[in-house]
Amino acid sequence: MPLLRSSQHIKNTYWNIPKKSFRTGVPQFAESKKTRILHLHPLCKSASGVESPPFFDSQTFSSISNRKEFRKMATTVPQVVSLDPTTIPIDYHTPIDDLSIEVKDISAEACPADEGLIVFLLNSAPKHSSSGGSGGNGGSAGSSGNGEGGAQIKINSSVKDNTINEFLKEGNMENFTGKLGTSKSFYIANDQKKYVSLAYVGCGPANEETELEIRKVAYALVTLLHDSKHKKVSIIFEIKIEEALFRFFLEHLFYEYVTDERFKSADKSTETDFIKNLSLHIANADAYKGQIDKARVYFYGTYYAAQLIAAPSNYCNPVSLSNAAVELAQKVNLECKILDVKELEELKMGAYLSVGKGSMYPNKFIHLTYKGAQTGASQNEKKKIALIGKGITFDSGGYNLKAAPGSMIDLMKFDMSGCAAVLGCAYCIGTIKPDNVEVHFLSAVCENMVSKNSYRPGDIITASNGKTIEVGNTDAEGRLTLADALVYAEKLGVDYIVDIATLTGAMLYSLGTSYAGVFGNNDQLINKILSSSKTSNEPVWWLPIINEYRSSLNSKYADLNNISSSVKASSVVASLFLKEFIENTPWAHIDIAGVSWNFKARKPKGFGVRLLTEFVLNDAV
Ligand SMILES: [Zn+2]
Repeated sequence: MPLLRSSQHIKNTYWNIPKKSFRTGVPQFAESKKTRILHLHPLCKSASGVESPPFFDSQTFSSISNRKEFRKMATTVPQVVSLDPTTIPIDYHTPIDDLSIEVKDISAEACPADEGLIVFLLNSAPKHSSSGGSGGNGGSAGSSGNGEGGAQIKINSSVKDNTINEFLKEGNMENFTGKLGTSKSFYIANDQKKYVSLAYVGCGPANEETELEIRKVAYALVTLLHDSKHKKVSIIFEIKIEEALFRFFLEHLFYEYVTDERFKSADKSTETDFIKNLSLHIANADAYKGQIDKARVYFYGTYYAAQLIAAPSNYCNPVSLSNAAVELAQKVNLECKILDVKELEELKMGAYLSVGKGSMYPNKFIHLTYKGAQTGASQNEKKKIALIGKGITFDSGGYNLKAAPGSMIDLMKFDMSGCAAVLGCAYCIGTIKPDNVEVHFLSAVCENMVSKNSYRPGDIITASNGKTIEVGNTDAEGRLTLADALVYAEKLGVDYIVDIATLTGAMLYSLGTSYAGVFGNNDQLINKILSSSKTSNEPVWWLPIINEYRSSLNSKYADLNNISSSVKASSVVASLFLKEFIENTPWAHIDIAGVSWNFKARKPKGFGVRLLTEFVLNDAV
């Protein structure tokens, strides 16, 4: 585990925070380099009695008129000892903000070859139909330049340098087969006798690129970028790629390239290590140019969500997370409301409040609102959408403690991934500013802990729609928090409700770590989610809500139990439970318990930000 900085150290760190960037549609973070980290525990003394620094940096946010409103909403984070963190450190500035990106038409203009790194994205060669070879790896049998299937990989593009063009024409592949995710790099002297770096990255067989392949290509490229340390990089697309996948390629490249070092005691990377110029050379460049700004926004939305998820639960608790939401709302000009325990009591959210009773941090219900301008479309065409994210900042399981092998208690900071996805989407929507759509970003945030105040197995609690629930298992807490959030969302009179949650570990068995499952009460809405899955390249699969299993949620004493007494399809049962809290609004439930965490890379994926944003944008008329 990396050494953690003390909270004081992090408080004193300077973070780069954008100035007006979020209001211009395209992030331009570079303006304000030396802005201090925002402190979200304003005008109040911490447990140590030390006066907190001012909430807002007056220079950065001088144009925000409703500053006092935001100041009121952010609240003090309780501490046990004065060293306990009181904010989630968030990088608002990433090396991608300093990266200039251009897209050039490969057929109109050859790529310059005077400096930096030039990367060719190459498909493996087509199989020889006459050779009868199996086309396996390493089948080149000593003849360099042979492709995966035995034929030679040909580079069709040329660069602005004769020596390098000769080298490329000669097919110097050095046993590079174009196999997916492989790479080969060379140093080569150009016409001016200056050395430039040349690299091939394998993209596998032509016309088979999917999200999965593109992830592997981006990852191979990131390794090259980190190794080469060049400031200028040109990527030549010898592969065909559709626009949404091209955008995904950039998003994923950025996401893998930027490393989260917020909790390291010493900064490992300096600004000078990052690339500054990226030129993308591709056929029909005009078709792709429009994807760059969106890729930047989607990258940051995803990275923002990932930062929240990766922040451990001593940094990310219900209070600090709701404070982060306040800060975000202010940055992208969203309406913001944080409901505290008193207001939640008035709304009779007994299910949600019960889950948080054992925590030292009070429940905080996040409600951000985006209202797009009404342009052209009639009032009826303007869609109202509620997005709900599960926000358990740490899930110990409660008295049904996560003690069994495989219950992954050490990962349970990630149980607010749904909330992070919704907030990441709020960033994207607040930045892109689509017209004719109103979006409510909701999360019933709390922490599920063990203490003398905790709710118990067997307790009967009452949700805000009046239904009574017997707590069969305190670890099935997400659905209890979502139940009250669904009731709240429906009262807003929205056209659709979509919730996203790390709800059931069973998703790991049904769909594994690549696909999220979507359930719902309305086929049309689910189809919208599936088409957003295609355009966002975040994979989702439609799973059924099987009414036959509903009776397994029956309780002897209450209206229903929060777990099934007999059915093992717990993702389906959880959906049946949630359905009890929707009356007639079209609703979809996305279970991301299997996909939120990248177990191999030991980091979050930020899954759902792009999916939800595409969903909203596809509906913006
Ligand atoms: Zn749980």
